[in-house]
Amino acid sequence: MRTHRLLPSLLLLGSLSMTAACSSGSSGSSGTATAARPGPSATTAPVRTVDPARIKGLRLVSDNSEDPSCAWATTYPDVPGATAMTDAMKKDVQGRLATFRELCEESSGVAGELNISHQFLVASGDVLGVRLTTLGGGGVGSGLARRTYWYDGGAGAYRTASDLVADGSRDAFLAALKSGLKGREGTDADTLDEAFDNRSSLVGELGDMDFTADGDLRVTFAPGTVGAVPAGSYVVTLSRATVTPWLSAFGRRVQRQTVRPSASLDLGATARPTPAVPTRTASGDDDTDCAQVKCVALTFDDGPSAAYTGTLLTYLDRYDARATFFTVGQNVVAHPELVRAEARGGNEVGNHSWSHPDLTRLTAEQVAHQLNRTSAAIQAATGQAPTLFRPPYGAVNTTVRNATRLSAVLWTLDTEDWKYPDASKVAESVVSKVKRNDVVLMHDIHPTSVAAVPQILRTLSADGYHFVTVSHLRATM
Ligand code: ZN
Repeated sequence: MRTHRLLPSLLLLGSLSMTAACSSGSSGSSGTATAARPGPSATTAPVRTVDPARIKGLRLVSDNSEDPSCAWATTYPDVPGATAMTDAMKKDVQGRLATFRELCEESSGVAGELNISHQFLVASGDVLGVRLTTLGGGGVGSGLARRTYWYDGGAGAYRTASDLVADGSRDAFLAALKSGLKGREGTDADTLDEAFDNRSSLVGELGDMDFTADGDLRVTFAPGTVGAVPAGSYVVTLSRATVTPWLSAFGRRVQRQTVRPSASLDLGATARPTPAVPTRTASGDDDTDCAQVKCVALTFDDGPSAAYTGTLLTYLDRYDARATFFTVGQNVVAHPELVRAEARGGNEVGNHSWSHPDLTRLTAEQVAHQLNRTSAAIQAATGQAPTLFRPPYGAVNTTVRNATRLSAVLWTLDTEDWKYPDASKVAESVVSKVKRNDVVLMHDIHPTSVAAVPQILRTLSADGYHFVTVSHLRATM
């Protein structure tokens, strides 16, 4: 069998089932990957979860389409002080997105979906570690790829996964990995010899490594690197005692910060000013009767955004307007204070999945996981569980509906604001078309969409409209 190790792992296309894809994209703390027969250490290794809300100045950089025929959602974190690492993630994400968008144009609607989500592995002391998980990317054999990115605050340098191992220990390290792969289903001696004989290429492909809470090192091989592509990823876990002598000085600091994290993260950066979070509390229940007056429900998807959501809330306050926010779980846990401010201002907080995949491509269990995890994050932030969800890309089917008790909300007026980053065009798309009881689709991850809101509120208020939440509209129209 041929391996595909000559391809850079960024471009590796596996044919993993969506089970593997979702478990990595959405289970967050789990570092397990689906191998044909995952070793016991792959499924039982304890993991340490990182609370991203504690990372000062964190911003998530998101770019999402809402076009089901060319569906993409990419997010990577921007942590103050770790610029070199942020740049590396940005370059990888933008490269994949550019490739995918080209494919979209060539294939007119059969490119599938690109989804890049993130997970913090370590954020303490002078160590930052992030895993980006890429699902899809289009075309035949589209699969799953994962890469870990590391930042060494002590040296002020970006590190790759293979930098966790000392140069002088590479041979011993690789030999241990090879013996850990021997006898696994989907691989054989010839394949392993071929992969491990070409060491320089293999080292470049060791892109996904992290430590368990016990200090063991977990190495994940992407589909096709050491076995057949359909067999999926392989995970080899090296015990703490085995691996520690082979680690670089930075690798040992990462291991230490994983096993026993410091109280806070300090990368030596000057703190990024935290955007103000509006503190206004809406006075009482909304008594607007949409059967008697003209109502419209503005909805904002894909946030919260550290950069723009606070500003949007102050605009809504100014016009005594209420809106509905369909939030993405990975953003909710990064900025619970913004979700709390949304709820406090009398707005409704809905569920827009954990990482913005096309839910109709997932199994019922995966759909439930995407939605339940997000609802739990919303409840933790606001004290109240959501009752509504909006499926990413508006993609919903019977499997999705049956997998949740949340009620699906689509829209009646699409501003296409993600496609046209032009505030006056966005405002015009609403004020020129709106009609009574419309549900308007917008996104608070785009500055131009938020900048359009004052004009929308001003014009429609003057025209007698009341701005209510989706649940309020449904209850009284
Ligand atoms: Zn969306």
